[in-house]
Amino acid sequence: MDQRPFGKTGDLVPAVGQGTWRMEGDDRARAILALRAGLDAGMTHVDTAEMYGSGEVEETVREAIAGRRDEVFLVSKVWPQNATYQGVQAACERTLSRLGTDRLDCYLLHWPSHHPLEETIRGFEELVRRGKIRSWGLSNFDAPRLEKALAIAGEGRIACDQVLYNVGERSIEHAVLPWCEKHGVAVVAYSPLGSGVFPSPRSAGGQALRDIAKAHAATPYQVAIAFVLRRPSVLTVVKASEPAHAVENARAADRRLSAVEVRRLEAVFPLRVKRELPML
Ligand code: NAP
Repeated sequence: MDQRPFGKTGDLVPAVGQGTWRMEGDDRARAILALRAGLDAGMTHVDTAEMYGSGEVEETVREAIAGRRDEVFLVSKVWPQNATYQGVQAACERTLSRLGTDRLDCYLLHWPSHHPLEETIRGFEELVRRGKIRSWGLSNFDAPRLEKALAIAGEGRIACDQVLYNVGERSIEHAVLPWCEKHGVAVVAYSPLGSGVFPSPRSAGGQALRDIAKAHAATPYQVAIAFVLRRPSVLTVVKASEPAHAVENARAADRRLSAVEVRRLEAVFPLRVKRELPML
C-alpha cells in the first residue's frame, strides 16, 4: 500500500484508509469483518467520530481493532459543540474509553465550532502534552478558516484538513488544496465514492469511469479513488461495511491514472467554484 506523509507529523499513513460514518445502521458483525479485512489489506488509517451513532461506532471500531491497536493510525473527531478547552479534553477521554485505547494518532475538530478556535486549539495542545493524542487536525475548514487556525497554532501544528472530495465534488482544488500543499497540511478526502451517490453508468462521467476502469482491469470505484489520490498531498478514507468492498478499495491505491485519463475525468467532471466549502 502506498504510504503518504500525514502533514508534518512525521507519520507515513496509507493513501487509502477506512471511514466509519453511518456504520451503526449496518450489520455490526459484517462491518467488523470489513474493517478487519481492510486492516489486513493495509488500510490501517481508521477514521471515526464521537458523533457517529453517538459513540456507538467508536465501540464498533474498538472491537474491530482489538489486539491490533499498534497497527492502526487511529483518528477520531470532537463534536463542535464540545470544542471548548475543557470540553475537548472530556470528549477525548470518552472517545479513548469507547475505543479501548490510551491515545489517538490524530484528533480532529469535526467542523467549525461556535466556540473560539483559540480554546479548541489550546485543548488539543494540552491533549498532545498529556500524551492523549499524537497530533490534531481540522475538518471542513475552508482556506480563510485554515489561515486563522494557522495564525493561532503556528506552522507545523495542523496535521490535516479532512474535506469532501470526489470526482463529482472538486471544490477543494480551488483554494483548500493549494493552501494545504503550501503549509504541509495533509488533505484527507472524505466521501471519495460520493457517500453512496456514484455516477450512473449511463452518464458521461460514469461511462468515462467505466472505460478507464476497463483499461486498468479495475472497477469504476477504484478509478474514482485513484482520481482523488492523483496528487501526493491527498489521502482518503472510504467507508465499507461489506468486506469485499474493503478489499477492492485497498487495491485502488495501486492504480495510477495516466495524464490523458486524468484530463478526461477532469473534463467530464468539471471543477465548479462554490461560495462556501461544501460539506456533508
Ligand atoms: P464513501 O466512502 O464515499 O461511500 C460509502 C458508500 O460506498 C457505502 O454505501 C459503501 O457500501 C459503498 N462502497 C464502499 N466501497 C465500495 C465499492 N468498492 N464498491 C461499491 N460500493 C462501495 O462515503 P462516506 O462514508 O461519506 O465517506 C467516507 C468516510 O469519510 C466516512 O465514513 C467518514 O469516516 C468520513 N467522513 C467525514 C466527514 C466529515 O465531516 N469530516 C463527512 C463525511 C464522511 P458498504 O458500506 O455497503 O460497503
